Amino acid sequence: EQHRTLMDETAIRRALTRIAHEIVERNKGIDNVLLVGIRTRGIYLAERLAALIEEIEGKPVEIIDLDITAYRDDRRSAAADRSKAGNGKAGCGLNVEGRRILLLDDVLYTGRTIRAAMDAVMDSGRPEVIQLAVLVDRGHRELPIRPDFVGKNVPTSKQEQIEVSLAEVDGEDKVTISIS
Ligand code: 5GP
Ligand code: MG
Repeated sequence: EQHRTLMDETAIRRALTRIAHEIVERNKGIDNVLLVGIRTRGIYLAERLAALIEEIEGKPVEIIDLDITAYRDDRRSAAADRSKAGNGKAGCGLNVEGRRILLLDDVLYTGRTIRAAMDAVMDSGRPEVIQLAVLVDRGHRELPIRPDFVGKNVPTSKQEQIEVSLAEVDGEDKVTISIS
């Protein structure tokens, strides 16, 4: 199996810098914005964006991580997990009421993870708006979900796999696509 590089360290840094500016512009600042990083790599992307946004705006932006495992619709025990956590209204344990929520993930594919993340957020209150930023949009959506901020659009076949490496967990910054 071979890998082709789609983004190197510089490309990732530039994409995140651009997205940070886009987030600030679209939200007219960052007051009331809450960055929500999804699972492993979305959390590191959220941390990096928070640092970039603080550089731009000169004030910190709130950031939190979200594990949506219990909300995935393709896990057989998802419903059971949710009711165990409280009548299927487990929520995400965040105060989202009236907030401008920005979901962060590394790769957007079918959209089911983001649907689950929106469920978790909305079970916890009524946000003013939910936006989505992803490093890579690889297409093949199965739900009417589209990102507001995209690092790179990568047309893929369903057989292909995007590999996102981030220095914090993988020792280097790189996005590759498998060619089988
Ligand atoms: P979805 O729920 O949209 O089908 O898939 C998105 C989730 O699965 C994201 O959390 C993402 O990390 C992971 N994912 C889906 N496809 C890929 C891929 O090709 N590469 C990587 N690294 N993650 C993927
Ligand atoms: Mg993921």
